[in-house]
Amino acid sequence: MTTATDYEAIAVRAGRELEEATAQEVLRWAADTFGKRFCVTSSMEDAVVAHLASTVLPGVDVVFLDTGYHFPETIGTRDAVAATMPVNVITLTPKLTVAEQDAQYGPNLHDRDPDLCCSLRKVEPLNRGLGGYDAWATGLRRDESPSRADTPVVAWDAKRRKVKIAPIARWTQDDVDAYVQANGVLLNPLLWEGYTSIGCSPLSCTAKPGDGEQGRAGRWAGSGKTECGIHL
Ligand code: SF4
Repeated sequence: MTTATDYEAIAVRAGRELEEATAQEVLRWAADTFGKRFCVTSSMEDAVVAHLASTVLPGVDVVFLDTGYHFPETIGTRDAVAATMPVNVITLTPKLTVAEQDAQYGPNLHDRDPDLCCSLRKVEPLNRGLGGYDAWATGLRRDESPSRADTPVVAWDAKRRKVKIAPIARWTQDDVDAYVQANGVLLNPLLWEGYTSIGCSPLSCTAKPGDGEQGRAGRWAGSGKTECGIHL
């Protein structure tokens, strides 16, 4: 039986050996190593990593966190991915509905304490949902923000005791655009409306970037918060 200590060693070694590998090579390694105990997470901003994973592991689990605050376009993108791609979309939900959270913590927690809101609506559901997996992949890229500049391709996720994989960590936005173009990958339609990063719909959580801004600049703009907590 493979233990967490074994997986930590596997992650450290793969992080070194796969640094220069293509995204498909990284995902092939993940599929060969973890099989069904591997999943991809997607915010449904686009279906790039889900598409890449489906080419090496058809039927791969694609995990989506439905916070209850998503734009309708994001839910529509999730439904389109589930209907048209050879993947198994799994939707995780928080323990509390938005109404229950409002009753317990007061309305608009996202404006008053976004870290707590993200913890309740994103971090806890993901931690619970990843219980059945040994490894998970994300769409993190080094060029997205300073906080993501050192993202490893493969690393040990010590908090969750799982292998964390970022197959497109080395990609640029141009690489993403080229892959989308070449493969007809589904995109969240909000990307055509000026959004460059799409999270929850409250204005305090997702806004269009200002003049001269790009990437994740519109996320929790002006608050000092840059990450929801999943990747910290
Ligand atoms: S992004 Fe905003 S609404 Fe979504 S979980 Fe975090 S604070 Fe709450």
